[in-house]
Amino acid sequence: MESILACDRVTKRFGGLLALDRVSIEVRRGEILGLIGPNGSGKTTLINVINGVLTPDEGRILFEGKDITKLKPHERVALGISRTFQGMRVFPYLPVYYNVELSARSVLKDAKLARARTSWALTVAKLLAEAGELPVNLTPYKLKMVELARVLATNPRLVLMDEPFAGLSPEEIEELSGIIRKLNEGGLTFIVVEHKLRYLMRLAKRVVVLNEGRKIFEGSPGEVVKNEEVARVYLGVA
Ligand code: ADP
Ligand code: MG
Repeated sequence: MESILACDRVTKRFGGLLALDRVSIEVRRGEILGLIGPNGSGKTTLINVINGVLTPDEGRILFEGKDITKLKPHERVALGISRTFQGMRVFPYLPVYYNVELSARSVLKDAKLARARTSWALTVAKLLAEAGELPVNLTPYKLKMVELARVLATNPRLVLMDEPFAGLSPEEIEELSGIIRKLNEGGLTFIVVEHKLRYLMRLAKRVVVLNEGRKIFEGSPGEVVKNEEVARVYLGVA
């Protein structure tokens, strides 16, 4: 399968702390890659170097064969890499529609195209009924959907999600999983960081495990849960 993104021996230090230690991963076009590991293992840091919030100290990042290691986040968005955050990135007092349209306009100069893109993103995120509402008045789940719609409005080919299920009920997790699956069936590639393994394992076909900044395993969900080192460091099993 064709690779859409490659991290090649990516290293990131914070002072004396080695947050990422020569991490190499490859993401295949059209897959949902799960990224797991204990707290502080470097998952968010890896997402940050992929979307350009952080620059790695060593190593390279290739997107569709192009070296993007030095590009800024907005330049990567224009290329097709977009992400959701662990916290919210939504303007609380701007109606939902305009939150999403603003995001579409950041990549599309043509206003008509941007409006079409906005309508599509609101439809996929099931936000048509809330289009005129202010985000401050929405439930945490709907807020999350606004964030997702903002990501989709940028017309990404690779979406990075950092703990999308945090704070959601089982029903909401199922609903969001369904939306991710449908987008994936339409060809969109995902990297999903998630603590709730039960749900992630049903979504991802391949999982990468980080521990103390190093990749310690990658394989199918079935292989990951059977691996002894993963069980030891991550699941806390002797
Ligand atoms: P995870 O998302 O897997 O919980 P992180 O990538 O957030 O882990 O963090 C990896 C390590 O890097 C942790 O030890 C964390 O404290 C440290 N770290 C993360 N971001 C920073 C930062 N901006 N400055 C200093 N240390 C950081
Ligand atoms: Mg994190």
